[in-house]
Amino acid sequence: MYPTYVRGLPDGSERGHFLALDLGGTNFRVLLITLKGIDVEMKNKIFPISQELMHGEGTLLFDYIAECLEMFQREYNLMQDTLSLGFTFSFPCKQEGLTKARLVKWTKGFTCPGVENEDVVRLLNEAIARRGSSINIQCTALLNDTVGCLMSCAFLDHNSMVGVILGTGTNACYMEHLDKVLTWDGDFDEPKRVEQSENVQHSDAISRKVIINTEWGAFGDNGELDFIRTDLDHVVDKASLNPGKQIFEKMISGMYMGELVRLVLVKCARDELLFSGETSQDLETQGRFYTKYVSKLKRDEESEGYTNTKQVLDELGVEKYTMDDCRHVQYICSTISSRAAYLASAGIATLLNRVNLPNVTVAVDGSLYRFHPHFHRRMMEKTKELLDNGIQVSDLLLTCPSCDLSPVVGCNEVHLLRYIT
Ligand code: ADP
Ligand code: MG
Repeated sequence: MYPTYVRGLPDGSERGHFLALDLGGTNFRVLLITLKGIDVEMKNKIFPISQELMHGEGTLLFDYIAECLEMFQREYNLMQDTLSLGFTFSFPCKQEGLTKARLVKWTKGFTCPGVENEDVVRLLNEAIARRGSSINIQCTALLNDTVGCLMSCAFLDHNSMVGVILGTGTNACYMEHLDKVLTWDGDFDEPKRVEQSENVQHSDAISRKVIINTEWGAFGDNGELDFIRTDLDHVVDKASLNPGKQIFEKMISGMYMGELVRLVLVKCARDELLFSGETSQDLETQGRFYTKYVSKLKRDEESEGYTNTKQVLDELGVEKYTMDDCRHVQYICSTISSRAAYLASAGIATLLNRVNLPNVTVAVDGSLYRFHPHFHRRMMEKTKELLDNGIQVSDLLLTCPSCDLSPVVGCNEVHLLRYIT
């Protein structure tokens, strides 16, 4: 549980141009966002992150980010301006202020040395400075993707109090009363109201609350989930880059779901329950059953002859399969994805019971949630079942994919943002 120093949510009145950077999983994105009331205009560019960068020295990763920022500025003709930047950095950080956050530990396959325990905003600013005068960017807020997700949703729906990510990893944040945050070391009255500028209207919704980043992916790291972990959960954990860590995440998120399915398929085949007892080289290869296959398979209807399931099995080089095998593969995918959706629901219901307001919207984002055909429905069912009496979840609102309002935090908090036009 980490306080984020984010004390207010956008209310739709924010205006201006904002730059955002999103690092936290498979890709790295740079975005230019223009807010005009509830209209949001966005330009974004995705840059790949190679395995070398994910495991190489931290300075190389931050130098690459600075280089991409400069390319983006050039492409959109923004070189003359000093740009303010909201940095969505989706790894567990101990935040010491809005622009100071130490990485606690890498997750989701990153291992770059020289970054853990360091202030990532400083590392980014130093990398930007190393590029010399060709780039002029000031990081005005660092936040987690859960917070960005909650803010994007709150912009349109003022009941939003919880943000959830179901993508490469999983995590959640929620609004908490400051008096309940025993670790809070910030000012209880800040941010004070600042003068209105011509370019931006300020939200009045500044209260004695703060968004808490739960880092729920690490739930279970002290054995709390051992009573439901299976042998194959242990196999996935042992083969990962961070054994013993992020146990809840490893039972839920996209980085691990396909692998869990693969391990069950291999076990069933070896036990002669599937594929006439035969596997294939691909099926025996770690990481080869992608999580996107689970979504693809779940779109099959039996009446259509399991077209997608067959296609995936063909791709994996499985030769001997029957219609019954297809049905069983479907069942395995259903069971593993339902378990993930139910576990995420247990976390959401716990947060909603804690927030204890009658009608709350939960903002959910991430490709697993977005593309899996049944995740939303399963989560709605289970979350409602687990809520205390009198608490309702109005909707699990899927936030706009392209809308990352992380830089608006700077607007609410410290008014450091400068505008491009
Ligand atoms: P990130 O979490 O890295 O910021 P995303 O939210 O796009 O980015 O999540 C990417 C992850 O989502 C991938 O690593 C993969 O595990 C999972 N994923 C991608 N496509 C699908 C899909 N079609 N169905 C289910 N999961 C998917
Ligand atoms: Mg993301």
